[in-house]
Amino acid sequence: MKSTSTSTSAAPVGEAHPASVTIDGLHKSYGSLDVLKGISLDVAPGEVVCLIGPSGSGKSTLLRCVNLLETPQKGVIRVGDVEVTDPDVDIDAVRRRVGMVFQQFNLFPNMSVLSNLTIAQRKVLGRSDAEAKKVALHNLERVGLSDKADNAPGQLSGGQQQRVAIARSLSMDPELMLFDEPTSALDPETVGDVLAIMRDLAREGMTMLVVTHEMSFARDVADRVAFMDGGVVVEEGPAQEVIGAPQHERTKTFLSRVL
Ligand code: ADP
Ligand code: MG
Repeated sequence: MKSTSTSTSAAPVGEAHPASVTIDGLHKSYGSLDVLKGISLDVAPGEVVCLIGPSGSGKSTLLRCVNLLETPQKGVIRVGDVEVTDPDVDIDAVRRRVGMVFQQFNLFPNMSVLSNLTIAQRKVLGRSDAEAKKVALHNLERVGLSDKADNAPGQLSGGQQQRVAIARSLSMDPELMLFDEPTSALDPETVGDVLAIMRDLAREGMTMLVVTHEMSFARDVADRVAFMDGGVVVEEGPAQEVIGAPQHERTKTFLSRVL
């Protein structure tokens, strides 16, 4: 697979600058169930932070609060200079800035790969057909799938579909990318291709918040790792330290199960 750093095509439109994220004292509950119990976490522009932790610890909920798929009850989230948690915030403006890639790729099955990449550019960003197509083809090349533009998503492997989903997000020029277990639903032999794309993105300076169980990815690519359990960040620090020499008992127990 071709890496983006060797790509010869220039970005056709101005790609956005990577944003910082600040999360301060975030609380989210569903009825009487407290899921996030005061989360504070910062991500600098261009930094990659991996969120690890057991199932049910609140990782997905945290990501979903950042792009307002969920509304937290308390706390502040900023993406760049936008306060996401301001009640008057323009939700669409937030979602334009923040790309999200899910475990299930959520592609439109009845549209070609190319149309999957152009529809939101046209409808949300108001790009012309020609411009949207140019951006789409550029991003398909970034993920090594230029030759699949006319295919239906169902004709692609899971790993290829996830690369299309990443290319679709990138076509919106995000300032921040959220990944929620992007390789958990994939056949093992396609996981590496998706992780390689994410590694390229990290190298290019994208701000990334990544929920993953891929500990070698977290160790090699993340600048920092945050371990969540029971709705709190138990431990956070440089990736090598948290994974290589965890300080807290709960982190040690979790890592001993997944490593
Ligand atoms: P993780 O991603 O770490 O596995 P989640 O954020 O998905 O954790 O879930 C954390 C907790 O919140 C779980 O107990 C889950 O059942 C609960 N939860 C998540 N979404 C909802 C929802 N929409 N309604 C009620 N409970 C939810
Ligand atoms: Mg989850």
